[in-house]
Amino acid sequence: MMGRRKSKAFAQENQSLVPCSSGTESARVEVEDEAMEERVESVSLDDSPLIGAENTSADYYFDSYSHFGIHEVMNYFHLFILQEMLKDVVRTKTYQNVIYQNKFLFKNKVVLDVGAGTGILSLFCAKAGAKHVYAVECSQMADMAKEIVQTNGYSDVITVLKGKVEEIELPVAHVDVIISEWMGYFLLFENMLNTVLYARDKWLINNGIILPDKALLYLTTIEDAEYKEDKIEFWNDVYGFDMSCIRKQAMAEPLVDTVDLKQIVTSDIMIKMMDISEMTSGDVSFTAPFKLVAERNDFIHAFMAYFNVQFTQCHREISFSTDQVMKVANKAYDIFPAGPRSKATHWKQTVLYLDEVLTICKDEVIYGNMTVEPNKKNPRDLEITIDYTLNGKRSQVSSTQHYKMR
Ligand code: SAH
Repeated sequence: MMGRRKSKAFAQENQSLVPCSSGTESARVEVEDEAMEERVESVSLDDSPLIGAENTSADYYFDSYSHFGIHEVMNYFHLFILQEMLKDVVRTKTYQNVIYQNKFLFKNKVVLDVGAGTGILSLFCAKAGAKHVYAVECSQMADMAKEIVQTNGYSDVITVLKGKVEEIELPVAHVDVIISEWMGYFLLFENMLNTVLYARDKWLINNGIILPDKALLYLTTIEDAEYKEDKIEFWNDVYGFDMSCIRKQAMAEPLVDTVDLKQIVTSDIMIKMMDISEMTSGDVSFTAPFKLVAERNDFIHAFMAYFNVQFTQCHREISFSTDQVMKVANKAYDIFPAGPRSKATHWKQTVLYLDEVLTICKDEVIYGNMTVEPNKKNPRDLEITIDYTLNGKRSQVSSTQHYKMR
């Protein structure tokens, strides 16, 4: 699922995706240096049986870990994931700005940090004047978070609770603020949003604040001939042998990778807006129509998705985007240096390849629907279906494609 497109921020060479997660841990892993990659190889996909079409990430993790000291391996990777996320400046600095620039939201308030990791968001909140912060973390990292809290002198303000949000008992009946960094690839991969909604319904006071409170998923299309050839068509002829059965599987797996602005062929559309303070867990599944208009004559090889996250409760709204182009946020609020492109985030973009290459002319329109739903067997995985139609001068295509994110 992870790409290796070269010469892009966050897409440095020597990255690889490695299994890293149990049912609760994050699967965001990239390996940035060679030494790390070598260590990782031994537990990477290369060792595990090929994932069958019906398998989910649960099977995959089981297979990959079956011959290792599972906890040791997971701790090691979890540490790595958390470091990668902390180094994602767009992500972490946005949360820091939200908290430090809006102390009025935290002053003397009881805060719940859902999925605290190292406790970084809890520390920001404590520093901003929160009365008390409950930092809930289900992994072994909770022990580190406790030590970090103590080392930094916040033991009287932050209580780290080790366990699943769905299973722990909170020492208080209500909280004033919920903060969480729950977003996965393609926004919804890993389905941690449901954990946040669970916490909201159980503990958040009426008119309490949830941060972030809006998440928006966008869809567009890209020209990607070179990379599709390298990644997908490769399997058609491998040293003279037909391995196209693997091509089918590669096609069905959305690719997480950085995309250049100049690859974008059509307009983009906001396909789904999630209001975290209002929505129900059922809203994570949806079907939405789209209409994408070609901005020039070009070929289209894939759909591409990215998301924005907004903190609308701030004194002045703060947001960040994973489209690498901080259109509004950059210019209006100067959070990050303005420029043609924002800094890449560790979420990159998600590329969904099309079976057929579309030859599209300027102003022609692709109509379609996108359906997103958690896999029934493993709700952390995502099933994505896109049906689309192009009735153009040079391409007349009507097709349905299924993707599985695991
Ligand atoms: N808040 C931290 C970590 C975010 S990653 C930061 O911003 O850096 C999300 C964290 O949530 C992971 O550490 C993961 O282990 C934890 N997590 C995921 N599901 C959880 C659940 N149901 N209960 C408690 N923690 C959970």
